[in-house]
Amino acid sequence: MSNATLNHDLLRAAHAVHEPMRQMRRTLHRNPELSFHEYETSKRIQARLAELQIPFQVMANTGVVAHIGTGDRCVALRADIDALPIQEESGVEYSSTKQGVMHACGHDAHTAMLLGAAQMLKEREISEGASSLGGVIKLIFQPGEEMSPGGASIMIREGVLQNPRPEAIFGQHVNPDATCGTAAFVSGMMLAATDELYWTIHGKSGHAAQPHNATDPILLAAHLITQLQTLVSRRLNPFAPGVLSICTVHGGHATNVIPDTVELSGTLRSMNQAWREEALRVIREHTELLGASPLFGGGRGELRIERGYPPLVNNAETTRFARQAAENLIGTALVEDFEPKMWGEDFAYYTQEIPGTFWMLGIRPPHLDFTPGLHNSKFILDENALPIGAALLANAALKRLAE
Ligand SMILES: [Zn+2]
Ligand SMILES: [Zn+2]
Repeated sequence: MSNATLNHDLLRAAHAVHEPMRQMRRTLHRNPELSFHEYETSKRIQARLAELQIPFQVMANTGVVAHIGTGDRCVALRADIDALPIQEESGVEYSSTKQGVMHACGHDAHTAMLLGAAQMLKEREISEGASSLGGVIKLIFQPGEEMSPGGASIMIREGVLQNPRPEAIFGQHVNPDATCGTAAFVSGMMLAATDELYWTIHGKSGHAAQPHNATDPILLAAHLITQLQTLVSRRLNPFAPGVLSICTVHGGHATNVIPDTVELSGTLRSMNQAWREEALRVIREHTELLGASPLFGGGRGELRIERGYPPLVNNAETTRFARQAAENLIGTALVEDFEPKMWGEDFAYYTQEIPGTFWMLGIRPPHLDFTPGLHNSKFILDENALPIGAALLANAALKRLAE
């Protein structure tokens, strides 16, 4: 089959599944569930796969993995399924019915698009025979993207990348900063490693008028905050991206009392593993040195690190391939470059194991210049992106297996 015929077939099939995808997305949007508690969501995915006669198994409690096609080769497609602890204020008629829970990161759309791609691929398998797909397409519906340790790491531990082992994996994320129907790619570094940092600064409480008899943890905290700004400006290669943001400061309760402790927290974002380890070491050692100077009259710092996801690095070869396949399907005018961001995404765990590419799907309504971003209570998306996203997924898998 020629590429032109395949493209035409895929776009037509994607158009045909637009309505079931829209319904599924709205059902999920009305019924969002928090990370690792996606029980109803998981049941809905399973019911839909059963309807489509696609065999599946449950993993990581609420994750689902399905297979279409047959053969020695295998390519994986991934969607995440969880929602966020946000009270929806988007005003759409299918708004969340659950107090304080919302699909504000578009994972409802990711799930609906993968189910749409599943339907397209299954119909193709039925009409042209199981071996016509050129191999096995593994569909991964993954829980808990929004919460450490990340559903991806649990699915991988439970064997999602085994039996069969995919030679490549593709995934996508909706992007409210880009016009509906565009797809954006970047080779190499795409998203950051995300580590959460929690400090406790111990001093010695006392009268504000007699600081010489106390150890002031607020002053120590102030020094720590400013000194740590040196990490990125002086210790990181200027050609490497990195950021340390200290975002909470809690301490004290009265104007005339020096408190005992101050609590700080923040996040380190980095794009490469070696620098990430180095930065965490420097922050820890510097924290432990806090109060060492006789100027401060004692005190000490304590640091707790909650390690987040690794940096998301797109494989050069699969990215070249996926971008070309997308250009071939939707035209070069709709395929853009993605500028790397310091966000985190647990798709990174898959690309640590096998070659893979994660792309961004534009979802901003074309008549708007601006829409609220991901994780915003007013987040909305243009559902005309659904057939394009489904087609891009099916397209990447089919063309890969046809190579
Ligand atoms: Zn998110
Ligand atoms: Zn997300």
